[in-house]
Amino acid sequence: MDFEAERARLIEHLSREIKDRRVLDVMARIPRERFMPEENRHLAYEDIPLPIGLEQTISQPFIIALMTEALELTGTEKVLEIGTGSGYQAAILAALARYVVTVERLPKLAKMASKVLDSLGYRNIVIHHSGETLGWPEAAPYEAILVTAAAPRVPPELISQLAIGGRMVIPVGSRYLQKLVKITRQKRKNRVENLCGCRFVSLIGKGAWEDE
Ligand code: SAH
Repeated sequence: MDFEAERARLIEHLSREIKDRRVLDVMARIPRERFMPEENRHLAYEDIPLPIGLEQTISQPFIIALMTEALELTGTEKVLEIGTGSGYQAAILAALARYVVTVERLPKLAKMASKVLDSLGYRNIVIHHSGETLGWPEAAPYEAILVTAAAPRVPPELISQLAIGGRMVIPVGSRYLQKLVKITRQKRKNRVENLCGCRFVSLIGKGAWEDE
């Protein structure tokens, strides 16, 4: 299978909606097939979410591009990602920001992601096993936070890990359908924008959903 050609075709498709050239250029370089199980690799460049094991998914490329674009990264930021999953989104963030802290609750996924990211040479990503508190307050504040699992509401403990002027993108809604929301933290009233409808796996833990 010609992954290079497939990847170029996907980027061409995404460029109809995604205008940030930096996001597209980074996605044009990262081998998405490496972040998924062998049996799904032939679908790596379809614009669909795919299973990565343990009932979790790697998000749809369009949604990944949209969320990344909304974070408005310039290369100087320390970014927090909740839900490492396959590690693909973390790789994109690491290419566009200074440093990425990513947390995952399932050790097996964290281990697989760590292996791929190491083999691809990423040195500015640290993966943590999620603890008691949502996110990773130890390294806060972050100029950008990306939540890649769906929450019932915007978790206040994540807002407090966001720098003033920082952007957070998070799917918020029911367990089965959400809105992708962008929050810009401001001194007084935070700015809130709805980006689109979406469907993510559930964020698990205190302040979110129970494990089923
Ligand atoms: N960003 C990932 C997609 C992740 S799917 C990628 O690029 O592949 C969502 C992930 O969030 C799952 O792996 C799930 O285990 C994890 N997750 C759910 N609740 C979490 C929590 N409270 N803290 C950290 N990770 C969580």
